[in-house]
Amino acid sequence: MSSIQTRGAVLRVRNTGEADTQLTLLTKNYGKIIVTARGARKPHSKFMAGAQLFTYSDFIIYDGGRFYSVAQVDLIENFFALRDDYTRLCLAQYFVEVCDKTTPLNAPCDELLHLLIISLSALSKGGRSPYLIARAFEMKFFQFNGITPEITRCAECGGALARSIRFGAEGTVCECYKRPAVHVSSAALAAFRYILSVELPDIFKFTVDPETLNEMKNALSLFFKAHFDVSINSLSMLDSTTIG
Ligand SMILES: [Zn+2]
Repeated sequence: MSSIQTRGAVLRVRNTGEADTQLTLLTKNYGKIIVTARGARKPHSKFMAGAQLFTYSDFIIYDGGRFYSVAQVDLIENFFALRDDYTRLCLAQYFVEVCDKTTPLNAPCDELLHLLIISLSALSKGGRSPYLIARAFEMKFFQFNGITPEITRCAECGGALARSIRFGAEGTVCECYKRPAVHVSSAALAAFRYILSVELPDIFKFTVDPETLNEMKNALSLFFKAHFDVSINSLSMLDSTTIG
């Protein structure tokens, strides 16, 4: 049996058998894979630390052809501090759920893994608004998926943007657009532009007021629904009226 060496973040944990755990991992070089950690739920299991949600570890994995099984796991980082704050925990759950539900198995996704790790890290460190972190995560997620929203002109007719700008299924739009769209201010657009133009470690280094964050949320949520036919359960854990 051959083995692979990689590092990855746990997206989903499912108990199987008597004491086994099935992990969905987002890994470097191998993309999303599903592995079994045998006996991970037994007391003192050597897999226990790395078989938890919100962890990032080095793995050695047996490749059994039709299945993967964990041979060794060494924890690099856990983001357990975010469990102390309900909003941050919900958003962390949202990040891993989005990655899990939109990423096909075995397709390379190193940029997405990097985005997930820095976003979980920022959430667990505190300081910045968790909603600001979520909006930056979403916009960069779209960019890495090759579906960057239009933000400089009307996505429908290509015309210049008027004073009252709205955001539809493909990005910014003018009055020509008849489908559902939400209002976005120039401050929200400036934040979008910033997130798209900088490299990963810097995507959270901007400041906007809560009202602008709420506009960004409405726009990115509409965009997500237009491009992905998946329902994200963890969002319902957050009271939508408090997001801002
Ligand atoms: Zn137009």
